[in-house]
Amino acid sequence: MKELASVTKKFKGEITKKFKKPRIWKEKDVLNGKIVDAFVLILRTRGCRWSHKGGCTMCGYFKETYDVKEDEILKQIKEAVKIYENEKIVKIFTSGSFLDEREIPSHMQKKIIESFSKAEKIVIESRPEFIKNIENIKSNKRIEIAMGLESANDRVLEYSINKGFKYAEWRKWAEKVKEYGKELKVYILIKPPFLTEKDAIKDAIKSVEKVKDIADTLSFNPVAIHSRTVVEFLWKKNLYRPPWLWSVVEVLRKSSEIYDGMIKCDVVAGGKERGSHNCGKCDKDFLNSIKNFSLRQNVDIFKNLECICKERWLDLIEIEELFKG
Ligand code: SF4
Ligand SMILES: [Zn+2]
Repeated sequence: MKELASVTKKFKGEITKKFKKPRIWKEKDVLNGKIVDAFVLILRTRGCRWSHKGGCTMCGYFKETYDVKEDEILKQIKEAVKIYENEKIVKIFTSGSFLDEREIPSHMQKKIIESFSKAEKIVIESRPEFIKNIENIKSNKRIEIAMGLESANDRVLEYSINKGFKYAEWRKWAEKVKEYGKELKVYILIKPPFLTEKDAIKDAIKSVEKVKDIADTLSFNPVAIHSRTVVEFLWKKNLYRPPWLWSVVEVLRKSSEIYDGMIKCDVVAGGKERGSHNCGKCDKDFLNSIKNFSLRQNVDIFKNLECICKERWLDLIEIEELFKG
């Protein structure tokens, strides 16, 4: 939809072009059923090609990018390798697509993967249209490709997210990932804009139904309000609220009933106004349980979650449905 694309573009304005260091941190993750250390590297590149055309309504990653030259990418890699301590999982993200040669030239993609030879598994992200470039990497290493789907509903993809592709196209390239012998991680968004809380829960579950036969890992992203986005504009006008943590837990619980693979959920700005939150009193317990669930996959973790705000959440779900157009 051209209109939505031009609106998303308008919010972004000019991107600040100054040299920024890569962002690096370490975290826990799961490999072969065991909790291990993971090394996360956010490389500064020129960022997502789709974002330059307007991008997705909730995406604020463009602020992490600038017009980076090749030698600056190499400098970032050198810096990262110095900090790398042989963590078993290495995640290399670019706030876009690792496989897009306009972000990382093809001859460098392989080189970067090889820089982390001690890693047992490397995770990269890509939009579907760049999956064909996987041939550039030609690595026998265990590689997981994370592909954002957000929703398997074409209307939500077009009118809520402005994702720039339909489910069928995403699916075609997801199958290619498997044909190339790589693992597939699927990002699903919880509560795209313009959906009621109830529809958002349903949309996430329906998306799981459609990808459960192909995904090795599902990774849920509850929407967080990033600055200079359509979602922020709606939020400031009280037309959008990030998902309740009750809704997030509901999605995780139901997904684990219908899906056998690994389920993860990273709650950005959890417990804050700009992130997924409940009443304030129970948020910490919810966030700890979600973190725990992502590492241990045990749905019983959610059994003890109780708070009086559950009634408010249930009321809102009912009321929103009454006023739905
Ligand atoms: S969500 Fe992904 S595809 Fe959409 S604009 Fe952001 S980086 Fe690009
Ligand atoms: Zn509460």
